Amino acid sequence: MKLSKPSFAKKLTASYLFVVAVTLLITGAYLTRRLKANYLMNLETSLSAQALLMRDQVAPVVLGSDGPSALPALVRDLGRRMGYRVTVVRADGVVVGDSELGESELAGMDNHGNRPEIQSALASGKGGATRYSRTLKEDMLYVASPIILREKPWGVLRVALPLTEVGHRINAFHGDLIKAGMAALGVAFLVAFVVARRTVRPLRALTDTARAIGEGRFPRASAQAARDEFGQLAQAFGDMSARVDEKVHELSRERSQLAAILSALVEGVVAVDHEGRVLLLNPAAERLFEAASGNLTGRPVLEVLRHNALHELIQQTLRERRPVSQEITIHSPQARTLVAQALPVTYGENRAGVLAAFHDITELRRLERVRQEFVANVSHELKTPLTAIRGYVETLLTGALEDKAHNREFLGIIEEHARHLSLLIDDVLDLSAIEAKRVDYRFEPVSLADITERLIKGLAPMAKAKDVKITNLLTDKLPKVRADRDKLAQILMNLIDNAIKFNKTGGSVKIAARPDNGNLVVSIQDTGVGIPPGDLPRVFERFYRADKARSHDIAGTGLGLAIVKHLVEAHRGAVTAESEPGHGSVFSFTLPVA
Ligand code: ADP
Repeated sequence: MKLSKPSFAKKLTASYLFVVAVTLLITGAYLTRRLKANYLMNLETSLSAQALLMRDQVAPVVLGSDGPSALPALVRDLGRRMGYRVTVVRADGVVVGDSELGESELAGMDNHGNRPEIQSALASGKGGATRYSRTLKEDMLYVASPIILREKPWGVLRVALPLTEVGHRINAFHGDLIKAGMAALGVAFLVAFVVARRTVRPLRALTDTARAIGEGRFPRASAQAARDEFGQLAQAFGDMSARVDEKVHELSRERSQLAAILSALVEGVVAVDHEGRVLLLNPAAERLFEAASGNLTGRPVLEVLRHNALHELIQQTLRERRPVSQEITIHSPQARTLVAQALPVTYGENRAGVLAAFHDITELRRLERVRQEFVANVSHELKTPLTAIRGYVETLLTGALEDKAHNREFLGIIEEHARHLSLLIDDVLDLSAIEAKRVDYRFEPVSLADITERLIKGLAPMAKAKDVKITNLLTDKLPKVRADRDKLAQILMNLIDNAIKFNKTGGSVKIAARPDNGNLVVSIQDTGVGIPPGDLPRVFERFYRADKARSHDIAGTGLGLAIVKHLVEAHRGAVTAESEPGHGSVFSFTLPVA
């Protein structure tokens, strides 16, 4: 069994009881002594008075006719009447009468001349002593008074009282004292108990509060705390706990706000101390640099981010104490271009560090590249028809104009190239407007069947020329889609146009749709030349044309599918192409149901 340490309340109660007990003991001992002395003094005084009276009866008897021989009987009579032991001793110490002894026993008594009470009675007229009587075998109080005959001390009358009585009285007093003491102890215990409990209550509350704070809870002060110092302490402690709680909450709120901001930032952020050790690293930075997982705080930045140029940038900022900005590239997990901006910062007590932010400009760089390529492509695409037009114009100017057999044909070719040129410019303008999001969309529920029907009518001459049969399987029963009417027409137009353009003579085009998970999947299937598997993933790229040689025969810009892809995506849909070279292709796109 584990013995628990005595509590403060128990200790307090015990000390109370100890103090009371010691006080009682000391007082008891002192009172007993005083009482005994008092009692003895009173007894002695009354015995002395009685001894004097009895002594005065002895003298006439000694001087009487019978002389001293009458003494034993007188002494016995006196003893019996008074209830004391009475002894008469001659001045020479011989006992001549004793109330407790017969005459025969008197002779055997030893000389009493050396007894202190006898000696002092003879010497000073008064004697007293307390002593153990060998004759009576108990403690006795003796009082002696001299018997004066003819002006001379003849002997001594001694009165003796057993002290057993005194003992009894003292014992009775002790008994009373013990009872009173016990009662006092009982009352002291009760008082101590109540006081200790009252004292300990706020202490206990204080302990509970301290323990709760240790466990991360912050209790408030209880309203009914006592008004004494302990109560005030508990109150102050509770108030402190409440304030610490508020502060902790405030700090953790600020901390989580900061953490939320840092983790929401697309930019990577890393803070390092003056030794180049990581103080903070946000998730974007962790992702960018594929930082090792676990607790990275306190580890050298080079070890965490594993990038020499960045490490050098941070060191430079620490050294020069000025903002440094630099473009850095990372190769893994993906090739990325970042602009790293490092700022010197001061934190804590004048401690210097560096805060570095990384802005991912990979996409920006890619777009720049794409734009350059686009410009190059457009220039190239524009050059082809322009060169042709210039060639034929020159031919006409240098004489062919008069050549009746060919001049119309040449002009026809010039017109075709000019149309292609304007088509190309239209598409380029369209595409760049779509890409730059300069196009407004007016989304509304649109019936696919209506739009398609009208488009097919418009394309009928072209289909007829190629002997391509168009089957429209879209009906009014289909749910309406959420789309911009004009843009949807542009999507369908491009896809159906391609399906006719890249078809075989006598081929067919089938337009169908099916609902799929809140979307409508529209498919345009043709029986045309198809697209080689190698080209399939690239047909949606700008200016990309599968099977270049043949594509150029068929007037096209190579921008149609790129426009389709952008428009479908603006409708929150996706476009896919499947093809079997030589047999045909299927272009499908999804649109959300209205
Ligand atoms: P264009 O039709 O002006 O050449 P597109 O962007 O519409 O440009 O098409 C890109 C290329 O994809 C075409 O040049 C062609 O090679 C291929 N393509 C598009 N649609 C089809 C189709 N239905 N069948 C076969 N090839 C196609």
